[in-house]
Amino acid sequence: MKKLAFLLLIPLSVFSQQPVCDILIRNGKILDGTGNSWYYGDVAVKDGKIIGIGRTLNFTANKTIDATGLIVAPGFIDVHTHIEGEEAKEPLATNFILDGVTTVITGNCGGSNLDIGKYLHWIDSLKLSINVATLIGHNDVRKAAMGRANRQPTEEELKKMEELVDKAMREGAVGLSTGLIYIPGTYSETPEIVRLAKVAAKYHGLYASHMRDEGDSVVYAINEALTVGREAKIPVEISHFKLSGQQNWGRSKITLPMIEAARKEGLEVTIDQYPYTASSTSISTLIPGEILADGQDSIVARLQDPQIKKYVINSMLKRLKKRKLKHFSYAVVASYRFDSTYNGKSIEQINLMMGRKHNKKEEAQTIIDIMLHGGAGAVFHGMSEEDVKRIMQYPFNMFACDASIRQFGVGVPHPRGYGTNARVLAEYVRDQHVISLEDAIRRMTSLPAQKFQLHDRGLLSPGYAADIVIFDENKVQDVATYDHPHAYSTGFYYIIVNGVLTAENEKHLGERAGKALLGPGVSK
Ligand SMILES: [Zn+2]
Repeated sequence: MKKLAFLLLIPLSVFSQQPVCDILIRNGKILDGTGNSWYYGDVAVKDGKIIGIGRTLNFTANKTIDATGLIVAPGFIDVHTHIEGEEAKEPLATNFILDGVTTVITGNCGGSNLDIGKYLHWIDSLKLSINVATLIGHNDVRKAAMGRANRQPTEEELKKMEELVDKAMREGAVGLSTGLIYIPGTYSETPEIVRLAKVAAKYHGLYASHMRDEGDSVVYAINEALTVGREAKIPVEISHFKLSGQQNWGRSKITLPMIEAARKEGLEVTIDQYPYTASSTSISTLIPGEILADGQDSIVARLQDPQIKKYVINSMLKRLKKRKLKHFSYAVVASYRFDSTYNGKSIEQINLMMGRKHNKKEEAQTIIDIMLHGGAGAVFHGMSEEDVKRIMQYPFNMFACDASIRQFGVGVPHPRGYGTNARVLAEYVRDQHVISLEDAIRRMTSLPAQKFQLHDRGLLSPGYAADIVIFDENKVQDVATYDHPHAYSTGFYYIIVNGVLTAENEKHLGERAGKALLGPGVSK
């Protein structure tokens, strides 16, 4: 009798032999990333992987999350970021984590580290909170071969560029990126890009293009990106797909069918976008490209030459006229090292603050002055909401913030760095019904994973990496605005990266479980 009483004191689990997991997510609405509708169920996580998923799982867990009423989805993959330079400063990457992002692709728009092997090794040693994959950037490859020269490469220089891309691909780049409005990429012609894309294609990488133009010449620019895809036999990702300038509003009716026609032809082309009507880049993009060759000293020398300055001002005014604008009010300074009091102010406002006359010619002079003092980052209000929504409805479009890891409170940057995914889910899924929740999640998860060949991510399925977001579809909200961009999104209650709970109750826990993810060219 005494013996039996002793046995009753032993926990039942010892006899039932329930499998043990690290984290058990209970009773969530599971959206697995395929685009299928949600179902009620549990997810079990162990050693960084998903080990079970189903209606009711029998696991003993070290940590149980009650996900009643919440969506459980794969961690979001942001295919277009620029984290270079911020990795060591902000390893927690809180702006990404609290917007549901667990993996980023960096090295976009032609700008990356040149030594990809060293970079990915460094990323691993840093231990960020997010996973990182990278492209190899054409601008850096070109700079290494021939500086910022405004000319075509010699065969020898081109060969050097091919070698650099080859090495980057073998060391783990996921593909080649170009930034054809930036220096020196803008000086290149299509055959140069085809040659380099062929090298990336050899290692099964893709070609990500910040196109030569996103405004008046966008049709030409899309055709150039498609030509690279066709001739180099490489999958194409057109970055931050948009129509810039009021004179181009509505032309997504023309440009989206171009993408679809190329797909019909057999070209593997997809696009991405950030869900805002303002863009953000260097203020130097307002200056004609030929002025920006060979570095800052040469830029200053050119802008101080009265004849050249006259030409620059005229060309800026011509472009403003095309936009049907009377002032440079659409351009807002985001980060100006020389004088941070101008951050958050438009060129029109800065011009007045400088005591100048309220006209566009003086405003052009103000832009030149900013360039003479090292330039600035800026936000440009130049797209239409109608185009943003039409592009959003294209089923092979992904969402990407085009931003860096944010240092909280520094500058007045574009809010997209904090709120991209929350904004899609709040504004365009819940409030305006532009796309469905299931489709939005598919395009934040399995579509980018497939396109960038992150084969064990982007879906909730046994054996997949345990990158998981748990959020409230009714409460998710972007909080960052143009005036107050430093604000984390809300509604993402739990974020798991590689099986480690990284955020809980909308707070970063300080965990840093991210990894460097290697591209397909690495011999495994
Ligand atoms: Zn870009």
